[in-house]
Amino acid sequence: MKITVQKYGGTSLATPELRAKVCDIIRNSVDDGYNVVVVVSAIGRDKDPYATDTLLNLARSINPLISNRELDYLMACGETISGIILAAQLATLGLETQFLNGEQAGIVTDGNYGDAHILYVNKERIVNALNQGVIPIVAGFQGVSETGELTTLGRGGSDTTASALGVALNADFIDIFTDVEGVMTADPRIVDNARLLNEITYNEICQLAHDGAKIVHPRAIEIAMRANIPLRIRSTFNQTTGTLVTNKMSNVDNIRIINDTIVTGVTYSSDLSQFNISLVKDNEGKGLLVFKALALANISVDFINIGTNDIKFTVPYTLTSKTEAVLKNMGILPEVELGCAKVAVVGAAMMGIPGVMAKVIEALSKKDIPIIQSGDSYTNIWCLIKKEYMTIAIKALHDIFELGK
Ligand code: ADP
Ligand code: MG
Repeated sequence: MKITVQKYGGTSLATPELRAKVCDIIRNSVDDGYNVVVVVSAIGRDKDPYATDTLLNLARSINPLISNRELDYLMACGETISGIILAAQLATLGLETQFLNGEQAGIVTDGNYGDAHILYVNKERIVNALNQGVIPIVAGFQGVSETGELTTLGRGGSDTTASALGVALNADFIDIFTDVEGVMTADPRIVDNARLLNEITYNEICQLAHDGAKIVHPRAIEIAMRANIPLRIRSTFNQTTGTLVTNKMSNVDNIRIINDTIVTGVTYSSDLSQFNISLVKDNEGKGLLVFKALALANISVDFINIGTNDIKFTVPYTLTSKTEAVLKNMGILPEVELGCAKVAVVGAAMMGIPGVMAKVIEALSKKDIPIIQSGDSYTNIWCLIKKEYMTIAIKALHDIFELGK
């Protein structure tokens, strides 16, 4: 049985015209002999009427202390609406569809409301639908806990739904349809001459996603990568093949350089706060305890530098006061640098390749951009800078590594 799982993002479903394009793609896949499983996100973005953020703000404006359990029920509504709407539109073309919510689609998660992880997939119901020639239209971003509560999977969670289903069904492809042509050398909303990458490795796209490129959720990549199911990032708006995500790295002794370049793309993550804690005097010996306390409070920290005399780390801006409160409880008064952003260059095997870091520093210093903190790994080099320099920094890095068209 040829199976393809197709995930459609919110902007791809926003208008009847766009949904008609989505219906065409599904119709063509059926005509090509594929059994199609469709996963949908909520319609629109930010302030659109059914977007998840709109629903969230509606509830929080009434009661900021609304429980996470109930917030999840509310946030999951957007996908239900878009799923039903798309199913209705597909039915007008004579295709037989069945809407399934997360639970009905067999997505079983842990009980972490708002950011649940998928534990396993009960695929029977979807398989039955496919066997009967029915197209399941699955509400993305939602699942059910083992105690029967509805859960949501966090921002970008529909990508994860699609990947988990693709793996459970051993699909031929997981196709993530979105509003750009595919994975590009930088966010095309910021860099005009960003170039489409026809191929990228799982590792690189994972690194891009972890470093902030919200084109696809990193968890979705990890799930597909483990089962080695081919994943494509494609445009809903035109017929291009998009970006194919492959595992080529593992075949070539980890030294293959994609596109003949060491750097594949530039990415960013904005709105970060940097914490700086002195470990001398009153705070002596508290280093490890800080990270334990933050973990207990469910605050995930990033960009950790541990020195003999101080520790540095960043948290998303939205967690700044929560983090300060945890530290205050421990008698720690940190220095906090608000308004930071991370820019990162990502590539297949850049660690130890001479000159990459030097080029990063050259690009930023030519634009007089101070580097607050930096670090590297096997697949990336990142710098923490002030947010106001972010756009200039991204463009400068994109230019110096000649990534453009
Ligand atoms: P969807 O609603 O389809 O899930 P997202 O907004 O989650 O769409 O992801 C698509 C967006 O990702 C694009 O509109 C683009 O602005 C952004 N993006 C960030 N980095 C990249 C990149 N390197 N290549 C392509 N798109 C990127
Ligand atoms: Mg998305």
